[in-house]
Amino acid sequence: MKSYEYDVLVIGAGPGGSMAARYAARHGLKVLLVEKRPEIGVPVRCAEGISRAWMEEVEIEPQEKWIDAEIDGAKIYSPDERSVVKLSAEQAGNEVGFVLNREYFDKYLASLAAKEGADIWLKSPAIAIIKEDGYVRGAIIRKFGEKVEVRAKIVIAADGFESQVARWAGLNTVLRERDVVSCVQYRMTNIDIEENFTHFYIGSCAPGGYLWIFPKGRKEANVGIGVALNKLREPGEVKRYLDAFIDAHPNLKKGSIIQIVTGAVSTCPLPKRIVDNGIMLVGDAARLIDPITGGGIANACISGKYAGEVAAKCVDNPSKECLEEYQEMVKKRWERKHLRNWFVKEKLASLSDDTLNKLMEVISQEDIKKISVRGILEAVQKRYPELIEEFEDLL
Ligand SMILES: Cc1cc2nc3c(=O)[nH]c(=O)nc-3n(C[C@H](O)[C@H](O)[C@H](O)COP(=O)(O)OP(=O)(O)OC[C@H]3O[C@@H](n4cnc5c(N)ncnc54)[C@H](O)[C@@H]3O)c2cc1C
Repeated sequence: MKSYEYDVLVIGAGPGGSMAARYAARHGLKVLLVEKRPEIGVPVRCAEGISRAWMEEVEIEPQEKWIDAEIDGAKIYSPDERSVVKLSAEQAGNEVGFVLNREYFDKYLASLAAKEGADIWLKSPAIAIIKEDGYVRGAIIRKFGEKVEVRAKIVIAADGFESQVARWAGLNTVLRERDVVSCVQYRMTNIDIEENFTHFYIGSCAPGGYLWIFPKGRKEANVGIGVALNKLREPGEVKRYLDAFIDAHPNLKKGSIIQIVTGAVSTCPLPKRIVDNGIMLVGDAARLIDPITGGGIANACISGKYAGEVAAKCVDNPSKECLEEYQEMVKKRWERKHLRNWFVKEKLASLSDDTLNKLMEVISQEDIKKISVRGILEAVQKRYPELIEEFEDLL
């Protein structure tokens, strides 16, 4: 078997992997980025919504080529669609700002890694890791069908939601059923929708998740749904929820489907460990998706940057103790937020349509700039005192 030597091997060329490779290479390390698919960014398995706020931190300059639409804010609809909460881009968080063209976006990020000197291999899945003396020391790669050995001081697993590398390395990122949201999305054309907003629908139309419409301009949009796995009883149910929603909305029903995407997101608190001797997990592989929004692009990029920088510090001592600096950075940034959002997600999933309608009615009448959990609860208490008990634990 042919053998190659690198300082850092990054497995998976999504946003997390490309950013990790870019920052590790910037520090002068010899870096290899391997991707199992023949083309980066294809097929797209994403609704493509992101905010602008985090891009500066990871030195990404917005480019016309990978922005399909600019978005001013988000609209969240109550189950009966009578109440609409309108949020500006700043208030809405991760999912508004741009609707991307990820085919180009992911390629652009990979080009940033290449510019810093990282090598990139396509059609090159990692099929096993090399483990010696309790350390991960590289991986076996099927490079264009030929098995080769890549020895590396540090492996960064950026192989996404279905990450096998984490499992091979013995890191526990197993998800409970209730913390997995199964998704189906259509790219639709010739539909009518307010194009400068992303649209979110909650309640029994998407149990334990939500339905989204992310406009891509020219009367096109990603129209998708995520349903919590523990709310599903039979195969095909997620698609049936989406079809029923489209059937009930003439502005969508008149359109045509030009692409179908399926996938899943995690909606869990952070795992206990995302590093071990010789290995770090980033992005979806580290379960960094936000438990409420299901957004993970920004967190994948930021965690990739963190991992690349820590790799540069630990390359001569890739022990878990050294790599724990990366784990600490991730925990400091997201542990509390994800735990809180996970709790709120669990709460929202337990509410009936009737309760959600009342809650949304109250919120839609609040001054959204001053909105806070306590403020909402006070307004709920005034208008629907019988509901307040249901929300007490949120305090
Ligand atoms: C339906 C859907 C809608 C979404 N919508 C949004 C959204 O609007 N906004 C948002 O922020 N997030 C969204 N997400 C989440 C977002 O797509 C992910 O969080 C993001 O892509 C994570 O980046 P990543 O680099 O960690 O993983 P990925 O982008 O999944 O990249 C992993 C890469 O690793 C490769 N790979 C896997 N195994 C191997 C292997 N063994 N060897 C080599 N390569 C391998 C894969 O081919 C892939 O290219 C959505 C997800 C889904 C499923």
